[in-house]
Amino acid sequence: MESLERKTKRMEKFKVQVINRHRMKTDGNGITTLVALYGCPLNCKYCLNKKVLSIDKYKEITPEELVQLVMIDYCYFKATGGGITFGGGEPLIYSKQIAKTRSILPSDIKINVETSLNVDTQNLLDIVDFVDEIIIDIKSLNTDIYRRYTDRDNTKLVDNLNIIAEKEYQHKCLIRIPNIPEYTTKEDIDNSIRLIKQLGFTNIDTFDYVIRGAENNG
Ligand code: SF4
Repeated sequence: MESLERKTKRMEKFKVQVINRHRMKTDGNGITTLVALYGCPLNCKYCLNKKVLSIDKYKEITPEELVQLVMIDYCYFKATGGGITFGGGEPLIYSKQIAKTRSILPSDIKINVETSLNVDTQNLLDIVDFVDEIIIDIKSLNTDIYRRYTDRDNTKLVDNLNIIAEKEYQHKCLIRIPNIPEYTTKEDIDNSIRLIKQLGFTNIDTFDYVIRGAENNG
């Protein structure tokens, strides 16, 4: 049986699918390094990552090892106001590891997250005070559409949006509201936008999921 110490050590690591360097303005300000993490609580119908998510193909690394890897681009980050963007999968399931990364990364390197926000509130609280940008793909605020598209309930998403609003961190957030073919209508999207604005979010991006065969970029 796995010892507790070994299990704890394993839990302290990131499961990294891929690291992409030198990204420009696609996921956060300046030049960023995207760290795509393994695992996601949702089951989106058009998920491009599904194949990857289902085959346990990842590399385990500690926050210390990650910092060593990304520091190769320190000059780019510093010159452009960039940094690390954690994506996935769902990066907030690694909230403790992200917090550890923040504690050992130079303070002038940004940390952003791309999340569905469908995680336990504690995971959000672990990172919300120090992250620089939170890019949130909300799918839809219509409960039925959300459930049909993701196989999950959106209660945690809504609770977490409210927590961000209560903490007045809306300025840190980019809310992404997709048009999901065969799931959302213009009316649904307008309704999601209205509800998001009621919570004080102003940075909103609407876009189309582009389906390629059975796959999509959702
Ligand atoms: S599209 Fe994103 S949120 Fe949905 S299952 Fe895939 S990785 Fe998770």
